[in-house]
Amino acid sequence: MPDKREISQKIKDLAAEIGFDACGICSAGEVDSATKSYLKKWLDESYQADMHYMENHWEKRCNPAKLVEGTKSVVCLAINYYPARKQPSEHPQFAYYAYGKDYHDVMKANMQELFDKIKVFIPNLEGRMFCDTAPLLERYWAAKAGIGFIGKNSLLIIPHKGSYFFLGELLLNIELAYDEPLGISCGNCNRCIESCPTQAIVSPYVVDSNKCISYQTIENKGSISRSIIPNLQNRLYGCDICQQACPWNRFALPHTVAEFEPSDAFLSLSTEKLESLSVEEYRTIFKGSAVKRAKYEGLKRNLEAIKQSLKNVN
Ligand code: SF4
Ligand code: SF4
Repeated sequence: MPDKREISQKIKDLAAEIGFDACGICSAGEVDSATKSYLKKWLDESYQADMHYMENHWEKRCNPAKLVEGTKSVVCLAINYYPARKQPSEHPQFAYYAYGKDYHDVMKANMQELFDKIKVFIPNLEGRMFCDTAPLLERYWAAKAGIGFIGKNSLLIIPHKGSYFFLGELLLNIELAYDEPLGISCGNCNRCIESCPTQAIVSPYVVDSNKCISYQTIENKGSISRSIIPNLQNRLYGCDICQQACPWNRFALPHTVAEFEPSDAFLSLSTEKLESLSVEEYRTIFKGSAVKRAKYEGLKRNLEAIKQSLKNVN
C-alpha cells in the first residue's frame, strides 16, 4: 500500500491528466473562527440578497464532515474558463464563465473520472463531489488547500494564472498528505474595489450581492434594482469587471476545454438579434448552458434594463 504522500501525488497527477489546472488537498473539519464570523456578519448585513439558501445548513456549511459523514480530506480542483474567442465588445456582454456549456456538467464529469481512477487503487474509497451545488465554502477550502488565495473581490486568485477558474471538491473518507495555504494576499492593491461600477465590494473581501451586477442579472428573479440599472451599461448577463481589473488576470491563458467554447450563434448575438430572439432560438443557442438559469424572460428583462442604461448615458 503506497503511503499518504504517494497517494496524494498520484491524485494530483491524475487530476492534471484529466485536465484540471490546479489540485490541492487539505484536511476536512470545522472552518476557522474568522471565516465563521465573516460569514455570520455577511448574512446579518443581508448581503446575500434573495439567495436565502445561503442562510441554511450552517453546521454543514462550516464543516464538510457534517455534509458528508466520514469526510477526512478535501481535494480541491480548478479548471480554467478564460476564453480565447470573445464577444464583440459592442454586443451585450455575457460573463466569460457563461460562454460555453454548463460548467457544473463538465466539472462533475471530470471529478467523477478522477474519483473512479482513485478508487482503482483505493478500493475502500468513499466520498462525494461538489461544484457550486452544496453548502460548502469552496474558496475557503481551495485557499486552505493552497491552490490560490482569496482576493479582495472575494474570488479565488491563483497566482500567475488569475481568477477565471471553476472550482470543485471531492470530499473523501481517507487521510492524505496535506498542502499548506500560500500565505500571500492582495497587499496594497485595491483595483477591484475601485473598478466596481456599483461599489458592491463594500470593504475588502466583502461583496454586497444587492449591489452586484452578477447577482442582479443572474440570481435575482424579480426586477433589477433601479439604482443598479444606470451602471449596467452593456452587461447583459453577469459581470467580469472586478476580475478584468485584477493584475493577476494579466497572466490568464485561454482554456483548452471544448465544451467551454462559445458557438458562432452565441458570438453573433447583437442587440438587434437579442431583441428578435424567439424562445426556440434561445433554447437552441443556450442548450446545456448555464445561461438557462436566467430563463428566456430573465434575458429579455436584462436586455430592457441595459437598453435603459445605455439610453441614459447617450
Ligand atoms: S461582479 Fe461587477 S458588480 Fe459585482 S463586485 Fe465585481 S465589478 Fe462589482
Ligand atoms: S484587483 Fe487587486 S485587490 Fe482585487 S483581487 Fe486582484 S490583487 Fe486583490
